[in-house]
Amino acid sequence: MARPTLVLATGNLDKVAELVELLGDRFDVQPRPVDLPETIEDEDTLEDNAIKKAFEVATATGQLALADDTGLFVDALDGRPGVFTARYAGENATYDDNVDKLLGELDGVEEERRGATFRTVVALLGPDGTGMTAEGSVEGIITEARRGQRGFGYDPVFEPFDGDGRTFSEMDLEEKGDISHRARAMSALQTAIERNPLPGI
Ligand code: IMP
Repeated sequence: MARPTLVLATGNLDKVAELVELLGDRFDVQPRPVDLPETIEDEDTLEDNAIKKAFEVATATGQLALADDTGLFVDALDGRPGVFTARYAGENATYDDNVDKLLGELDGVEEERRGATFRTVVALLGPDGTGMTAEGSVEGIITEARRGQRGFGYDPVFEPFDGDGRTFSEMDLEEKGDISHRARAMSALQTAIERNPLPGI
C-alpha cells in the first residue's frame, strides 16, 4: 500500500531531523513548501499554535500536515518562558541569546530549584481541518552552564531526569529520541492514530 503523504509544518531543520527520525517510514514525509509564509505563532497555548501551524500547511498543500509546538516551563520562573520559549530573549533571539537569558535569570538559584519541563504538542490535520493532537513532556533541571555540542535550542542546559546525568546536547539523536518531549508526543500521536485512524492513514 502506498504510504500517505505527510507535510511537515515546521521549517526548523533541527526539528525536521528529529521528526523524520521519529516518523520512521510510515509516511512519505515532505518538507514545508519554501514559498509558504511562516505561521505567526500568536496563540495562548502550545496546542492552539500547533493546530494553527498544521492547519495553514494542510490547507495550502491539500495534504496531511504535522506541526509541533514546544515550550520550556521553568519552575523557578513560574513556568516562563512557556509558550514564548522561542522568543524568550526577544523577537529575533538566537538559541544562544535565549540560553544566556535563562542562565542569567537562574544565576544563584540552587540545584533543587532549577527544575523545568519541556512540553510538546503535535497536531496532525488533514486539509478539511479534522485531525488530532497529542502531547509529550520530559522533566529535568537547567544546568548552571552549557554542556555538550549536539542538539539545538536549550539542549545544552537541559538535563533530563530520565537520562544518566548528561544534557540533551551530550546525547546523540537516537538517545534524545528515546526520552524527549517530542518523541513522547509522537508516540502518543501514534497511539491516537491507532485508536482513531484518519481517512487515508
Ligand atoms: P517552537 O515554538 O516549537 O518552534 O519551539 C520553541 C523554542 O523551543 C525553539 O525555538 C527552541 O529554542 C526550543 N526548543 C524546541 N524544541 C526543543 C528541543 O527539543 N530542545 C531544546 N530546545 C527546544
